[in-house]
Amino acid sequence: MEKETIALHAGYDKKFGYGTMSVPIYQSTAYAFRDAEHAANLFALKELGQLYSRLTNPTNDILEARFAQVEGGAAALAVASGQSAIFYAIANVAEAGDNIIISDKIYGGSVTLLTHTIKRFGITAKVFKSEDASNLEELIDDRTKAIFFESLSNPQIAIADVEKIVDIAKKYGVLTICDNTVASPSLFNPIKWGVDIVVHSISKYTNGQGSAIGGIIVERDGLNEFFKKSTRYAHFNTPDDSYHGLVYTDVPLPNFTLRVRLALLRDIGACLPAFSSWLFIQGLETLSIRMDKHSSNALTVAKFLSSHPKVKSVNYPGLENNSGYEKAQKYFKDGKASGLISFDVGSFEEAKRIIDSVELFSVVVNIGDSKSLITHPASTTHSQLTQEELIKVGVNPSTIRLSIGLEDTKDLIADLSKALG
Ligand SMILES: *Cc1c(COP(=O)(O)O)cnc(C)c1O
Repeated sequence: MEKETIALHAGYDKKFGYGTMSVPIYQSTAYAFRDAEHAANLFALKELGQLYSRLTNPTNDILEARFAQVEGGAAALAVASGQSAIFYAIANVAEAGDNIIISDKIYGGSVTLLTHTIKRFGITAKVFKSEDASNLEELIDDRTKAIFFESLSNPQIAIADVEKIVDIAKKYGVLTICDNTVASPSLFNPIKWGVDIVVHSISKYTNGQGSAIGGIIVERDGLNEFFKKSTRYAHFNTPDDSYHGLVYTDVPLPNFTLRVRLALLRDIGACLPAFSSWLFIQGLETLSIRMDKHSSNALTVAKFLSSHPKVKSVNYPGLENNSGYEKAQKYFKDGKASGLISFDVGSFEEAKRIIDSVELFSVVVNIGDSKSLITHPASTTHSQLTQEELIKVGVNPSTIRLSIGLEDTKDLIADLSKALG
C-alpha cells in the first residue's frame, strides 16, 4: 500500500471493540490480567499484551504501528517528546566511555543534549560535516556507537548527504540515527536509504496544529540479525541483568525499540499520554497533503524574499541557486523541501524589528504548525549557545527563520512585505 493509504488505515482493526471509525483513546494507567500466570507470561515476554501505560498503551500501539509503516520501518516506539526520543536512541546504544558522532547542523536542543548533558554520563560527542560527510570516516573508532544527523536540519535548513553517511557507517558497522522531523515521513524516508534508526519530534508536522508534544523512534527491518553478530553492540546479544538475564537478540521482536521500551521507558519513564497519541494519529492522516502545501507555499515565499532589496540572502533548498537544491531533488518527494525558510537581513536589530512588525506570522519557537511562525534563533532557541557554537551550527545574529503554514501566500507575502518596509 502507498503511504497516504497506510497513514489512514494501518494498525487499527475496526472489527475490534465497537468498530468506532475514530481510533479509541485508551485512557488507562493499567490493565487487568486474566490471572497470575497471564501476568507472569506477559512480563516474561512469553505472551504479548498490555503491561502498564508507562510501557505500553493500545492507543500508542496504533500510532506506533502506523508511523512505522509510513516510515518503512519494522517497529516504532512513541515517547513523550522529540528530545526524549533522541536521548533514548542514544542511551540505547552508548554508555560511559563510548562516543557518538553528531552532525554540525542540528537543532539547538540536540546540541545541548548531545554535547553537554550526555557528557555528564560519560558519553562524548564528536562533530562531523553532514552536508558532505567529508570528515566522518576519520572520527570513527572502536567506541563509536552512533552517527546522528538531521535529514533536513532545523534551523540551518541543510540537507545531509545521507547516502555517503550510510556507506561509511556500514563499512564500520556503526548505527546511523536520523532525525527526520523537518522533512517528515511524507517527503523523505531515511530507512529506504539504509538508515538504521529514525527519530522524530512529532510535535511538529505530524501533529500539524501545535497541540501536543511527542516523539517517536523507528527502527529498520533486519537490525536483529545485525545485533546478533555485533561486538560493538554486545549489550544486545549478552544477558541483561536488569531484566533477569534477557538476551534481546533471542526475542523475535524488533530489538532496538524493544530494548528502549523494556529498559529505558521502564526506568526513565518519558511515556506518551494516550490522548496525545490520538492527536498525532489525527495529524498523520492529513500529513501528506499538508506537506505538499507547506512546500509549495514556502517556495512561493522564498522566491518573494529572494527578490526583496532588504533581504541579504535566502536559504530554501527548493530554490535552484541553493546549495541543497540537488540533494532536495535527489532525496525528497518531487524535490519538495518542506516549510522552513531562513533569511538574513542587515543586522541583529533589523531582524528584531521585522519580528516585531509582522502581524499574521506568530512569534513562536516552534515549526510545523498550520499557522505561519517566525523566530529569531540567535535570541531564542539558540540563545544558550556561545558565539562560537552559534557559528558552528550556522546561525547568524541577523538570521530570521520562518515556518510557512497553510495560509494563502498572498496574505503571507503582504505581511512580510509590510514588515520588511
Ligand atoms: C523540535 C525538534 C526537536 C525536539 O522535539 P520536542 O518534541 O520539542 O522535544 C528535535 N529535533 C528537531 C529537528 C526539532 O525540530
